[in-house]
Amino acid sequence: MNDLYPSVLREVAPLRDAFASAGHQLYLVGGIVRDLHLGAPLVSLDFDMTTEARPAVIKALVDPLATAVWTQGEKFGTIGAQVDGRPYEITTHRAESYSDGSRKPEVVFGDDIEVDLSRRDFTLNAMAIRLADGELIDPFDGLGALERRELMTPIEPEVSFADDPLRILRAARFIARYDLSVNDSVMAAGRALIDRMSIVSAERIRDELDKLLAAPAPSSGFEFLVEVGAWPFVVAAVDVSSVAGIGRQLDAVANDLVLRRCVVFSYVAPEQRRKTLSGLRYSKEESRQILSLLGAVDVIRAGSEPLDAPAVRRLVASVGYDQLGLVHSLIAALGVSDRGFGTVLETLDASGELERLTPVLTGDEIMELLGLDPGPAVGACLKALQERRFSDGPLDRAGEVAFLTTNYHPTS
Ligand code: ATP
Ligand code: MG
Repeated sequence: MNDLYPSVLREVAPLRDAFASAGHQLYLVGGIVRDLHLGAPLVSLDFDMTTEARPAVIKALVDPLATAVWTQGEKFGTIGAQVDGRPYEITTHRAESYSDGSRKPEVVFGDDIEVDLSRRDFTLNAMAIRLADGELIDPFDGLGALERRELMTPIEPEVSFADDPLRILRAARFIARYDLSVNDSVMAAGRALIDRMSIVSAERIRDELDKLLAAPAPSSGFEFLVEVGAWPFVVAAVDVSSVAGIGRQLDAVANDLVLRRCVVFSYVAPEQRRKTLSGLRYSKEESRQILSLLGAVDVIRAGSEPLDAPAVRRLVASVGYDQLGLVHSLIAALGVSDRGFGTVLETLDASGELERLTPVLTGDEIMELLGLDPGPAVGACLKALQERRFSDGPLDRAGEVAFLTTNYHPTS
């Protein structure tokens, strides 16, 4: 047990007392209980709680203690509260499921902690700590599963996965993060029910992929996704035969989300990448960064001759100076030959020229200099200056003025 157990119990005492004095039980539940048993550091813990009190009662009980209360999740039973600088999520127990298999099963509140725990995804996530006496509530031997490093469901896996097929994806994250073996019945149920994955939204699939990518070594989670048949629901554009190898590549790269996303999407054909990323509902900014990093790697991969200074300047301009560390890591991760990119880059960078790769003169200054009216000619001048900078390196303001007055004659 984690040394933090007493300090966590002390920290939650004001909430515990408020619920106790109103005759309600309050429990820490789910990931925090698992992680406390694994000796996780305090900063990594999410304080999730559950109670039989209904949301309106939770709200009334936390209100005097909280500096902020969030009620967006109220109809699903969850009240958020900031108490002593710490965010809490307190959720009313769930009752037995009478799911009709629909996409949005109705939320039914319950009174029994054990029933609530039975509806959770895996036994190692189905433990609670009763705050009144600090007792561990572990009806499904989650602690044993944690010790054996085994992934099991509290109820029959067929019922659990039919209820919420997202759990098949959640499995991958826990397998990778905690180095779990998969119980045979869990694997068989996942396989049998895999087509239910089609009801899971793209956003939730993306979130799970990102969480799997954040595991220290994601490869076993990737292997599970292949074995259970889930991969085509995750990134169909990546052929399933590449996925185990991608997992191994991911284990060997730094735990950086952008870098790891790039490794995965490098296996999507360039012309399909944009569509794949927007299909997974990555934001415009996230997609832009992934596409531009992969575009830079594609350029480097496209030839065999050493890259010259103009090619390197163009690359830096397209990907952005601040992204160069990621370009290097990505080239290394994918085993791409860098074609002298690093060496040329170092020389150019030493001169400071890469910090500015755009012309000094503005459109207004060009119009004034050459007596031009607004129009395509101004754009053509800017483009010529840009090309000149790419091909021969930087010019200062006077140099750009001289270049334009020599090459472009005012309309007289
Ligand atoms: P992480 O450390 O990645 O946050 P976690 O176990 O805390 O993992 P959360 O997604 O934060 O997972 O959910 C908190 C708890 O809620 C879980 O531990 C589990 O008990 C329960 N839970 C979450 N999602 C589901 C689900 N889809 N089905 C069943 N139980 C779930
Ligand atoms: Mg959590």
